[in-house]
Amino acid sequence: MITVQSLQHTFTIGKKGQEKKVEVLKDINFRIEQGEVVAIVGKSGSGKSTLLQTIAGFMKPDSGSIIINNTEIAGFTEKQSTAFRLDHFGFIFQNFQLLPSQTVFENVELPLKLKGISPAIRKKKVSEMLTKVELTAVEDHYPNELSGGQQQRVSIARAMITNPPIILADESTGSLDSQTEKEILSLIQQLNEQDNITFIIITHDEEVASIADRKFRMADGVLVGGMAHVI
Ligand code: ADP
Ligand code: MG
Repeated sequence: MITVQSLQHTFTIGKKGQEKKVEVLKDINFRIEQGEVVAIVGKSGSGKSTLLQTIAGFMKPDSGSIIINNTEIAGFTEKQSTAFRLDHFGFIFQNFQLLPSQTVFENVELPLKLKGISPAIRKKKVSEMLTKVELTAVEDHYPNELSGGQQQRVSIARAMITNPPIILADESTGSLDSQTEKEILSLIQQLNEQDNITFIIITHDEEVASIADRKFRMADGVLVGGMAHVI
């Protein structure tokens, strides 16, 4: 379902005249099948988030191929990327990125609004999703009225509401205590089993990585381990 080949990206950093080139993605190759949970581990600064950003189409790689469901997305325009992203990806971030002025219900509803789904269908879908992640009781609350674990469940519900086949999680349990982290990880496992959703989980935490079917390691701009090289 996701095939990445010869992916390469270099950042130019520093002041004008003293620029330095950092080759963050040197030669990334891997293949992930539908329904797999894959963890990408690696030190801070090793390029994990950059890789995820290119897969999601937020960032254009310098070169290489990213094929998702038989579609080459590396050369997409911004408009094409946005449309493709809404249909294919859900995101879970470390800092949740919920809208503070919107209720739980409204936060989860947002991606459906962006897709132009009618209010009646939105209400039905959001209600079902909130039941699934056990947030019905707090659906009218604002994010700052929730615990960290609840906020992360809202962001998972928002990620899942459009039924994307792929969820990208970037250090998504990094700010949670270990008990809450366990709850979130078991929710991810449950969603993976129920709906055959593909998860790519970025983490620097080996315990988080242990729930994955396969574990890739990012180091020196390449991915190793977990049979990542088998294309
Ligand atoms: P990780 O997620 O593994 O911690 P990142 O992908 O965030 O690593 O960053 C990898 C490297 O690329 C770091 O050295 C970082 O400073 C650099 N980097 C990331 N994003 C940018 C950017 N937009 N511009 C310049 N350098 C960047
Ligand atoms: Mg990162």
